Amino acid sequence: MANIEKRYRHDKLGMITVVWKSNMRSVRMGFKNESFTISAPQGYPMESIIRLINENEQRMLSFIKRHESRREKVSIDANFTLDTHFAIMRIALAKTTTPRLKKVGAIPCGCPSDSSTPVDKDNLVLEMPYDTDFETEETIRIVKESAIAMLRYEAKKRLPSIVKEIADANGFKYSTVKINSAQTRWGSCSSKGSLNFSLFVMLMPLHLIRSVIVHELCHTKHMNHGESFWALFDKVYGVSHKIVDKEINNLKLPAFLKSA
Ligand SMILES: [Zn+2]
Repeated sequence: MANIEKRYRHDKLGMITVVWKSNMRSVRMGFKNESFTISAPQGYPMESIIRLINENEQRMLSFIKRHESRREKVSIDANFTLDTHFAIMRIALAKTTTPRLKKVGAIPCGCPSDSSTPVDKDNLVLEMPYDTDFETEETIRIVKESAIAMLRYEAKKRLPSIVKEIADANGFKYSTVKINSAQTRWGSCSSKGSLNFSLFVMLMPLHLIRSVIVHELCHTKHMNHGESFWALFDKVYGVSHKIVDKEINNLKLPAFLKSA
């Protein structure tokens, strides 16, 4: 007999998958991909499973908490590298008393140039004193601020020309391009056609950076997310928004960059 699977939404524990298997003798609970799965023998009543969940709610909640704190642990050491499409930042221990971020050159980028903008990757080094303690909050703050400075610089340097290129090629009109540090929103477009992009967009691969730009440019014609908006996006971008948005939704900011 085939396994039967059912999804159960618990208001605190999130989505729980219940699977009834013919080869199970007892109920088992597992945790994978951020959610619980309960396996039960075939015919085992759902009410009993719900009772089991409610009885174990506290244990399950603290399990999620422990799991999250482990996952979110920020670890930075002297080998830290932040490698993005347009820039790379490394840490170098140096004879210095204060940390400083230096541009040491540019690396020709081997990526396919589907943009008219010449692509060379800025090469940055964050010099830190030899005796830096990488465990401290202060060190993490310095690395975070340096990374944000790099991303902001790159966003201001690269985004306006990519926006212009895509807009000119597709007949979009916009007024300004501004950069902010939003962590929950990649971009926005005002009713006056002013485009805003999060500096964290610069962590994306180029094709996704371009998709965020196309998305906001499409808002200059459709201010909503209606059918005509998505049709325009798909036409201009050339790949379905369903595929692109899935990729974007799977992106996660590195833990060290998240707001404290
Ligand atoms: Zn939108």
